[in-house]
Amino acid sequence: MNLNIFTALKPLHIDGRKEKSAHGPILALPETVKAYIYIPLVGPNGVDIDVKVNLGDPIKVGQVIGIRKDMYVPFFSSVSGKIIDKVDLYHPIVGRPVPHFKIENDHQYQSLSTLKPLPAKPTREQIIQQIKEGGLTGLGGSGFPTYFKYQSAKDVEYVLINAVECEPYLSTDYQAAQLYAEEVMQGSELFRIAANAQKVIIAFKQTKVAIKEALQPYLDQYPLIEIRSVPDVYPMGWERTLVRTVLHREYDKFPLEAKVIVSNLTSAIALNQLVVKGLPVTERILTLSGAGLHQDVNVNVPVGMLMSDVVQAVGGYAMDRVTAFIGGPMSAKAVKDDHFAVQQHFGGFTVLAPISSQEETCLRCGACTSNCPANLQPIEIKLALDSQNTARLLKLDAMKCVECGICTYVCPAKIEVTEAVRLAKTKTRIELAKQVVKAS
Ligand code: SF4
Ligand code: SF4
Repeated sequence: MNLNIFTALKPLHIDGRKEKSAHGPILALPETVKAYIYIPLVGPNGVDIDVKVNLGDPIKVGQVIGIRKDMYVPFFSSVSGKIIDKVDLYHPIVGRPVPHFKIENDHQYQSLSTLKPLPAKPTREQIIQQIKEGGLTGLGGSGFPTYFKYQSAKDVEYVLINAVECEPYLSTDYQAAQLYAEEVMQGSELFRIAANAQKVIIAFKQTKVAIKEALQPYLDQYPLIEIRSVPDVYPMGWERTLVRTVLHREYDKFPLEAKVIVSNLTSAIALNQLVVKGLPVTERILTLSGAGLHQDVNVNVPVGMLMSDVVQAVGGYAMDRVTAFIGGPMSAKAVKDDHFAVQQHFGGFTVLAPISSQEETCLRCGACTSNCPANLQPIEIKLALDSQNTARLLKLDAMKCVECGICTYVCPAKIEVTEAVRLAKTKTRIELAKQVVKAS
């Protein structure tokens, strides 16, 4: 196990640009714009789901639409009404159009959740089962099924609740922490029980004093929960940086190796809702922000609503052409289209003025390499990819890239280095798979 690969972290302070969205109210959308919602019939990896309802069926809030075939993750309806169509719609994570059920909202919000609230003092097993049946995935953006981490938890010392939200523009965690402080504490304690951990630490940026002020009054009631501020640098919200900064521990692949589990603050709120009310995530707060929009806001959105409808409902685009990202602009890939359904793990939609793709020749300045938190040589990876030098590519170990976006951010020649490293990861995966097949 190599524990030194990430020790040369060089974090950057990046202008958060969160002020406009962070200090307004969380908008509630009028019912008229929630006329239809769309539920994909594939998982985020493109694998089909086992569909449990049919075209024409009446539907209720919390009803299971289908379950992923590759791993147990149910998808729920966020409204009541009727399935009126099956349409192909762009899926920004899968990267192509996939079938979706179109549900007409009757605005009655009748519920049919098969989940029941858990007793006041639930056991570890009950909580993990509720997380699984409730389809909870990493709401910080990972979308990874949460029960996977917790069911394999052994000898865990700490649960780290990540309230850092280091991507520029996004402020949903910041607002949710203040609005749902008690739920954050309850959900964090539930994660602690699910992990059988000794302690919870809720980590937030030192500049976000309002989070501290919101959570502090509850600390007496939760003796096993602590709050800790961390520096306002990027990528502080990356699991490895957080574990190192807060606990001074290193690991190779997963935080569990360091006896730690990391979960997001919004996931803690969602877990509390699952346990106390038996409700899965059918709604989430999204940050819509950036110069490409008429206003920067946080807004409550039903899961499955079209992003294009959400944008129109909050004032629309401020320019004819934009570059837009699901989440923040540092680690996300620009989307091709806004005609896609909001998923439970989307935290925002950042819309900027068009980003010019006029790449210049590499200046060999070394900025991408010296700033890479994973100690990679991003430009060398790009060159190996471009020249199809597979042996060199495998040596450069692109799989360690965490897609933080720093190499593109610091590049004076405007080279899309991160995108090249992403492609290199795909190429590396394929080459490694070929080697396994050859060896077998
Ligand atoms: S995106 Fe670039 S800077 Fe970030 S880890 Fe990957 S190669 Fe390094
Ligand atoms: S930062 Fe840009 S210009 Fe500098 S070495 Fe890397 S790719 Fe080349």
